[in-house]
Amino acid sequence: MASPPRAVLTIDAESFAHTPAYRTAGGTVADPDVGPEQIDRLVETMAEYDARGTWFVVGELARDHPDRIEEVAANGHEIGSHTVTHRHLTDLAADTRQAELRDSRESLETITGQSVTGFRAPSFDIGADHFEMLAETGYQYDSSTVPCRSIPGWYGGEWSIQRPTTADTIQSGANASIGELPVAVMPGLRLPLTGSWLRFFGVRYTIAGMRWLARRGIAPVLYVHPWEFADLPRVEGVPRRVYVRTGAWMWRALERILEADFEFVTARSVLESETDTFEPGAAPDN
Ligand SMILES: [Zn+2]
Repeated sequence: MASPPRAVLTIDAESFAHTPAYRTAGGTVADPDVGPEQIDRLVETMAEYDARGTWFVVGELARDHPDRIEEVAANGHEIGSHTVTHRHLTDLAADTRQAELRDSRESLETITGQSVTGFRAPSFDIGADHFEMLAETGYQYDSSTVPCRSIPGWYGGEWSIQRPTTADTIQSGANASIGELPVAVMPGLRLPLTGSWLRFFGVRYTIAGMRWLARRGIAPVLYVHPWEFADLPRVEGVPRRVYVRTGAWMWRALERILEADFEFVTARSVLESETDTFEPGAAPDN
């Protein structure tokens, strides 16, 4: 029997307090650290389906919840970085950006005992020297490109490559030693398969897109956030779309995705087999 196609479930581990929607809202809540409390159940649910994933973790969340992140790593998941503070990288001066990359990697390695080689930028926001800086700060791959159409007020329109590749093929002159794993979009429609679009369009949209990509030999790269699984507190000024189908709906959607006929593997394992960027198992010296 042929083995099922591979898929990558990535978890951008930030709390509601880290989201641009909360940060730019007029209102506040007493405790906006919502999301981390969902991590244990996410780990349990993925274990039920024998699924491994890659968690791009915000350094501040790991600092505040080290036991939870240690548990994620202990369950066979890969840990990557999602910066220290989850600020948009292109808003920051070069030395601050460098510290966001370097310090998050170091602290996540200390907490988990794993090598951290992968990175995802908050809101997929990266600048011209991004890949060079990743190489300087000890990373081997990035997963911050979304080959989607241009979406007003958001992002998109910048990238078109859907397969795992190296940074020099998506940005001329970029460091070829850095691997790139693009996030999955629906062929034709060119909108992401997950994020808000999972919640807007429903789980059948996501699974149809996964199958479509798999038929083309592409392992779909999905992303979810722990706060999407929580009952989010109402905050004045947070757009209503942020709340759509969060909580119980997302738990059912995740189970349906994990039930689909895919093998859920880490981001790094897909890059190892699909590119010659780095040798399997090789990690940088720390
Ligand atoms: Zn994020």
